[in-house]
Amino acid sequence: MLEVKKLTVHYGVIQATKEVSFQVKEGEIVSLIGANGAGKSTILKAISGLHRATSGDILYQGKPIQKESTKKIVELGISQVPEGRHVFGGMTVLENLEMGAFLRKDKAEIQKDFKMVFERFPILEERKKQDTATLSGGEQQMVAMGRALMSRPKLLLLDEPSMGLAPIFIKEIFAIIKMINAQGTTVLLIEQNAKVALEIAQQGYVLETGRVVKSGTGKELLASDDVQKAYLGG
Ligand code: ATP
Repeated sequence: MLEVKKLTVHYGVIQATKEVSFQVKEGEIVSLIGANGAGKSTILKAISGLHRATSGDILYQGKPIQKESTKKIVELGISQVPEGRHVFGGMTVLENLEMGAFLRKDKAEIQKDFKMVFERFPILEERKKQDTATLSGGEQQMVAMGRALMSRPKLLLLDEPSMGLAPIFIKEIFAIIKMINAQGTTVLLIEQNAKVALEIAQQGYVLETGRVVKSGTGKELLASDDVQKAYLGG
């Protein structure tokens, strides 16, 4: 579904990634793990058209998208849940969710999707009139995910969904990611929390200073000595 080939990205003179290659097959959950500054967010920004690659290819359903606008990329079915939630404070939960559907015109279908989001995140229905800025971190993460789902993505890009959350919320969010995937959405996940990310992933890639240094199934990486030592404290 997604093929990233030799992706190199710069910010001015700073090279953030170097010839990164990986694949996401339809129906999978794929996790990219790595420490601070490894280049994880940069890769997601390049895929969603927020930052242009210096070189390399990003193929989505066989077609290059690295020169497309973010709007076009969303229309093609790729939606990103950005790091740190980035929900719109000062707007209600419902208004935030509406923003996720801003490119869509199919009113009846949009109503169905509100229902779908509230089924997945019942707490959001209870809080739908509340200012999003006053929600807990876990609830804001749910709003960000719900907002992305309102664009009906085929491929969901998740930027550190565990960040800043208590273990109980992490468990809940990851259970929901698994459910979203089981219901047909392909997921590319980037995480510093290697354990939770690899546990739910069919495939994983380890990034260090902008390069892929290891790849394998989620299980293989969890069991690998290098990964254990560097990311799992063991
Ligand atoms: P984190 O988990 O800390 O967000 P990351 O793996 O997502 O880390 P990136 O944010 O992709 O890492 O950053 C990769 C490298 O690019 C880092 O060295 C970072 O300092 C640099 N970088 C990121 N954004 C910019 C920017 N706007 N201008 C200059 N350098 C940047």
